[in-house]
Amino acid sequence: MMTPRIEIDLKKISHNAQNLRELYAARGIGLFGVTKAVCGNPAVAGALVDAGIDTLADSRVQNIVRMRQAGIEANFVLLRSPGPSQAESVVREADISLNSELSVVDLLSAISTEKHTIHKIILMVELGDLREGLMPTELLRAAERVQRKNGVLLAGIGTNLACFGGVTPGKENIERLSSLACEIEDKFGVKLEYVSGGNSANYDWFTSTEDVGRVNNLRLGESIYLGRETLRRRPIPGLFTDAFKLVAEVIESKVKPSKPYGEICQDAFGNVPKFRDRGPMNRALLGIGLQDVVVKGLTPRLDIEVIGASSDHIIVDAREEELEVGKEIEFELNYGALLSAMTSPYVEKKTIDQPTFNMKNPCPRERNLHGN
Ligand SMILES: *Cc1c(COP(=O)(O)O)cnc(C)c1O
Repeated sequence: MMTPRIEIDLKKISHNAQNLRELYAARGIGLFGVTKAVCGNPAVAGALVDAGIDTLADSRVQNIVRMRQAGIEANFVLLRSPGPSQAESVVREADISLNSELSVVDLLSAISTEKHTIHKIILMVELGDLREGLMPTELLRAAERVQRKNGVLLAGIGTNLACFGGVTPGKENIERLSSLACEIEDKFGVKLEYVSGGNSANYDWFTSTEDVGRVNNLRLGESIYLGRETLRRRPIPGLFTDAFKLVAEVIESKVKPSKPYGEICQDAFGNVPKFRDRGPMNRALLGIGLQDVVVKGLTPRLDIEVIGASSDHIIVDAREEELEVGKEIEFELNYGALLSAMTSPYVEKKTIDQPTFNMKNPCPRERNLHGN
């Protein structure tokens, strides 16, 4: 089989998605399945739909197009606030978009009016994390303006935490979101379809809060794919944390010194490296590097140590392992590694959907989609 490749266990992904869907649904919270970490991979999108998630969200219009063209039947949400230059394609490809700039909403309105369609708007509110969002004091006026526009429908409000500023979703900020939703509903006599409380980082809030308030939606990526909440990266009970695995191949294996010798200057990336002399070492080179994956985010499944990487190589201390040339080495991936490997054209995407051991639930309906 080709290396490097990422092996994607669709049954495990579907299992995770279904468990999370049921967990959150028990308290009235629906999910958007976020596909950006898998680059809109159609097979993965199909696994989410099989698990009962009917709305998929991505930050890139291109990924939405990719899923649509592969025949994925779902509602599509654009997660990243669109820029003016994207307005046309957003109206064409997405049913809903998250927005924080009224000038862009005006463009979306003009375009969808011209096309005789309705584009749904979720207004994002800034509640501390300082990435996207209107300031709470601006929200009511913005909501009013969206409501007056043709071609767009105020479908809801949302917030995003724990992304840029690392701000924890908790009682205070989520209650603020709920009360803003109530204010809009009271003032304008509308019912918001979505009060979108956050992402995979909201798990601890959800499992500890007595009252979810008006929150009825979360946008989940990482917890579906990697089976963990994202504040401390603890595994979520009942989920698989190993739905993805990266496989690389040994291309050189030798005993060599542990410390570079000769005059030391900058490495390939402009750093001046420092190494400790640990005597002769079993070293191996793997045929995968920074053009394939964020190497920092990889954890080998063998007892070996990644000691460095260049664009095209990972260098490992093989310790006691026999790493003969041609041997396949498996890694677990964190979010950054997953995102980069799924995006790199050099990493083959291999979907696997054989029955999985230890499945607690009956396997979801089969789907015959093997997009790449
Ligand atoms: C990426 C993203 C998400 C999903 O985050 P996860 O941590 O993968 O659950 C949700 N909302 C927005 C706006 C995003 O950009």
